[in-house]
Amino acid sequence: MASSDAQRIVTVSQRGAQRIRAGHVWVYRSDVVEAREVTPGALVTVQEEGGFRARQWSDKSVRPTRAGVARPRVLGSALYSTASEIAVRMVSPKAVTDLGQLVRERIRAAVACRERFVENTNAYRVIFSEADFLPGLIVDRYNDLLSMQVVTQAMDAEAMRGVVVSELREAFNPAAIVERVDPRVRRLEQLAEKASGVIYERALLAGETPVAPESDGGGTSAGAGRGRSALHHPLKDGVGTGAHVNTERQVTTEFQMNGVRFVYEALGGQKTGAFLDQRENYAAAARYGRGEALDVFCYQGGFGLHFAEKCSKVTGVDSSRPALEMAERNAELNAREIEWIEGNAFDLLRDYADAGRQYDSVVLDPPAFAKSKQNLQTALRGYKELNLRALKMLRPGGILVTCSCSYHVSTADLLETVTAAGLDSHRNLRLLENRGAAKDHPSVLGIPETAYLKCLILLVS
Ligand code: SAH
Repeated sequence: MASSDAQRIVTVSQRGAQRIRAGHVWVYRSDVVEAREVTPGALVTVQEEGGFRARQWSDKSVRPTRAGVARPRVLGSALYSTASEIAVRMVSPKAVTDLGQLVRERIRAAVACRERFVENTNAYRVIFSEADFLPGLIVDRYNDLLSMQVVTQAMDAEAMRGVVVSELREAFNPAAIVERVDPRVRRLEQLAEKASGVIYERALLAGETPVAPESDGGGTSAGAGRGRSALHHPLKDGVGTGAHVNTERQVTTEFQMNGVRFVYEALGGQKTGAFLDQRENYAAAARYGRGEALDVFCYQGGFGLHFAEKCSKVTGVDSSRPALEMAERNAELNAREIEWIEGNAFDLLRDYADAGRQYDSVVLDPPAFAKSKQNLQTALRGYKELNLRALKMLRPGGILVTCSCSYHVSTADLLETVTAAGLDSHRNLRLLENRGAAKDHPSVLGIPETAYLKCLILLVS
């Protein structure tokens, strides 16, 4: 955050510079030519290698000085990581001197963007890293709780956390802000070990009685599980400079999307709450849902619960028991009866298809099969197999909702794979909708990694 850090210069190769000129914001370490004395997470000025060398004057990237010597071309300001393969994340094509101010403005812009575009829910992604020009910071809102994730050295700095927490408090006045930690990510980024926990809690209103006496973070768990968001005692109001309190305590709330209610456990359960990126796809899929529905890879029941209103019977399948337990709590909250089956989706689909089971609506929303470009072909075989089995079970006029959240699998790849599955199963497929992530997970043109989620809705005859 110190403005002197802005003086540090990182020189990138022409290939790295070209990537930035094409609209991307990352430079990989292999394209960093020089980064002398740059500290972890520093704000740096990025310049292109080779600017000094005389090149063809017709090349606009080289500006001749009066002496006729080319100057280095400055590409803008960036946040630097000394650990990640993504060494440079651009934050502006201009010279940034006050990073705190820039982050404040971008948080406000991200919040305003959701106010414009997010409807029918009190759960959405407030800040999505590069997609909101705040690389390394993710914030989700679940009703009166905010869940924050920090994945870069720059965003992990205490001063930066202070800015983020104060802006979020200003914008939402949340009951609490919880930090979700992925220990693997922190290790890779060479950040100090840390547990998930509450980093800010709103003070009680006058007259409210704390269940537990004010503590200095010594793990009181009294009062968990009741009240509006089950947060019962005030913390010292330290603008969230990292003090972790009561990591064992449950912090829960309830949220809704498209009129369907969900439980949110900020620190319990698995993963990071709901898959908010599917919110608009739930609503779209529910419009077509009919008859008997099978929600494969159902997690906490997102698609299944949305289908429940329209469909005569809904079955959800997942290999994770904690996810299914949460799915059942969600079903109860909505007074729905849904059958949850714990099992391996590949085995179950094969067994069901072999047994001649039939459905009218099937959702396939598997985890990312292609974690890297190298295993794209294996991943596509996985997608094909799943789709083939689902198609075999769909009655004529049925609906297939098929998703991929692998960035490496493009929409074209998925369409080709599903087309092949249609041919093999002798079914005609008509594309009703070709969708992506909800608008609170914007994809930025020029940064293809931000367009990771694909969701096709097909009519099967
Ligand atoms: N459709 C869900 C999100 C699915 S995420 C929603 O909208 O909320 C992927 C899910 O697949 C996870 O819940 C994970 O537990 C589950 N999963 C991963 N491998 C599986 C397998 N082989 N069989 C069944 N479920 C699996």
